[in-house]
Amino acid sequence: MRHIIIIDDNPNDRLLATRALKKDMPELKITEIPNQQTFKAVMKQGGFDLVITDYQLRWATGLDILREVKRTHKDVPVIMFTDTGTEEVAVEGLKAGLEDYVLKSHKHFARLPTSVRLALERAEQRKLAAETEKKYKNLFERTPVGLFRTTPDGRILDANPRFVEIVGYSSKEELLRTNMVDHYEDPSERERWKEALERKGTLLNYRYKFRHRDGKIIWVESSTYAHFDENGKIAYYEGSVQDITARIEAEAELRLLATAISQAEESVVITDTNAQIQYVNPAFERITGYSREEVLGENPRLLKSGRQDEAFYKELWDTLTQGRPWKGSFVNKKKDGTLYEEEATISPVMNSNGEITHYVAVKRDVTAERRLERQLRQAQKMEAIGTLAGGIAHDFNNILSAIMGYTELALMDARKGSTISNNMKQVLHAATRARDLVKQILAFSRQSEEERRPLRVQPIFKEAIKMLRSSLPATIDIKQHIDPETGLIMGDPTQVHQVLMNLCTNAAHAMREKGGILEIRLENTHVDDSFAKAHPGLQPGPYVRLTVSDTGCGMSREVLERLFDPYFTTKEKGEGTGLGLAVVSGIVQSYGGAITVYSTPGQGSTFHVYFPMLEEEKPAKEEKEATFEPLPTGTERILFVDDEKVLVEIGSQMLEILGYKVTHRTSPLEALELFKAKPQAFDLVITDMTMPQMTGDELAQRLLEIRPDLPIVLCTGFSERITRQGAKAIGIREFLMKPLVMKDLAVTIRKALERE
Ligand code: ADP
Ligand code: MG
Repeated sequence: MRHIIIIDDNPNDRLLATRALKKDMPELKITEIPNQQTFKAVMKQGGFDLVITDYQLRWATGLDILREVKRTHKDVPVIMFTDTGTEEVAVEGLKAGLEDYVLKSHKHFARLPTSVRLALERAEQRKLAAETEKKYKNLFERTPVGLFRTTPDGRILDANPRFVEIVGYSSKEELLRTNMVDHYEDPSERERWKEALERKGTLLNYRYKFRHRDGKIIWVESSTYAHFDENGKIAYYEGSVQDITARIEAEAELRLLATAISQAEESVVITDTNAQIQYVNPAFERITGYSREEVLGENPRLLKSGRQDEAFYKELWDTLTQGRPWKGSFVNKKKDGTLYEEEATISPVMNSNGEITHYVAVKRDVTAERRLERQLRQAQKMEAIGTLAGGIAHDFNNILSAIMGYTELALMDARKGSTISNNMKQVLHAATRARDLVKQILAFSRQSEEERRPLRVQPIFKEAIKMLRSSLPATIDIKQHIDPETGLIMGDPTQVHQVLMNLCTNAAHAMREKGGILEIRLENTHVDDSFAKAHPGLQPGPYVRLTVSDTGCGMSREVLERLFDPYFTTKEKGEGTGLGLAVVSGIVQSYGGAITVYSTPGQGSTFHVYFPMLEEEKPAKEEKEATFEPLPTGTERILFVDDEKVLVEIGSQMLEILGYKVTHRTSPLEALELFKAKPQAFDLVITDMTMPQMTGDELAQRLLEIRPDLPIVLCTGFSERITRQGAKAIGIREFLMKPLVMKDLAVTIRKALERE
């Protein structure tokens, strides 16, 4: 119900007005205000929708009333209903917010209800409009999306608080002084979308960069609408802006993760809870040989090698289904059937409810790593053996010296062809093998003394073949083709000898059941570019090539792959050490040469050894070929020094058999004293190298101080690290390798004595 108040001093006029209104609008509530008191009370109380006032009141004018109403109830319309007002009053009233001006005359009474109705309607509309406006204003102010309006050239006309916040301004007023372009990271951005906007009028979800007031770059997503005026020209732009920096960063992070996974060295497999493969990365394809298409939807079981038992997989799945990550290593099978070892971490992936949705496996192929580990362990083992061997070699050699020396002496006394003589020969043979074994171990651990010099290899090989003939069974036929004209190589005779012996021992072993032909060939050859390329470590050039081939059991592919590995052997315990070929390849490689192997299982094997040939034919000191010539003898006086009593005795006996007069000492100090006393009483001194109190080279030095022309022979074991050059510089004439063998002893002494 509408409530109207009528302010008029004249009760008649009030009545008339009331009647006129009631007649037209009976539902109206009308309050008549006869005086100022009532007016004040009603104003205070409020709750009216319209005011009708006379102009000329005793206590105020209609304009005063108008102003008072507008001051306290600004939305309530006021109609002036008067007969005293003037046109000026009417104009002033309208300026102050008057709704209508109706003259009090009979004619105009009829107009009053219409005026009132219209005024009420207008007021109602105004109220609705205000409410709507307020609603939109709220939306504009509070929406979490930045909103703006700009002129066609970008000047900001309006912006909501969120927009102000996005660009980092402290107030809207401040922002309104800027142009939209001021906030672009790249001002040319505007040119890019302007054309589209002018043509289509809208631009949706456009991404570009803003510069925040603090200088930071932010990503925004914006939609803009052009508003056109009646001439079809753009009046203004309006639009929204959202800060999507966090989203862009998250997207970038996701992309980075995706790239990392797809480019990782590790293989990544994602399965669902049914263990069906949903994703594999390129590393997986590379490692396993399966393409993505082949494995999607499959079970990772297809990699099973059979090397893990059911319990292993059960433990794995138990861990995973309990929601815990599993770590461990597998031996798995590639598509081509080869096995590989991988280290894996498999983790369950859970959704926000804590339910497992996927499993992610990250796996690393550790085959190469494991192989290296094994090789390292082997290298360490070798080093340990080397140290151990070096440690016992000295003592062991002395023991062998005693065995071989006494056997040789005993053989001289035994009747040729007698059982004792034959048995003694067996002892000597066994001891020789023991000596070779020590040599082998020491060569392998690189503790033996090595002396490289220009070398003609034929004599060495001939001697070795002679030895082989006597030790190989008759079912093995030895064929040799030794070119007498081959070039010189740079090498150590003992090592070269060993290369051939090791190859031949293997060949003989391969033929021991059925017999066969062992062929040894020595020739000059030239390595060309293509052959060199195919054999790392080989340079093109002239080589001396040793070929050892047999018609034995041959080798499988697996054996061929590993035969040079130290400790690799297919022989029974006690039969093979697995060191033979490792030693051969070590020696040959250190000479800058190479070995090749060809083998067919069941048919035999061929080893080629390439020794780099010395370009220049240096006249080498001819190795004396081993002959059965009688041993050279002499009658000179010899002082023999060795700390081992047994060795001194054997040495002395050997020397005496050869005709020499021997004095011996087991202490170098005593020997020195003796020599000091009678320096001219000896023609030659033989001394051991390793002795307590004083080493052999020290003794030699002291002796030479007394008599610089004294011939001295130094006996060394394998492990003794005196270099021949060093010893020769001191003035030592010759060397003897322990264990002493009569022939070497005889020859060396003559050499030392005759080289004046
Ligand atoms: P070992 O003789 O102590 O076993 P090697 O290093 O000399 O050690 O040889 C390694 C392995 O290479 C042998 O066990 C054997 O299986 C294989 N092998 C070497 N030479 C031959 C050959 N001529 N014929 C067949 N197999 C060979
Ligand atoms: Mg061998």
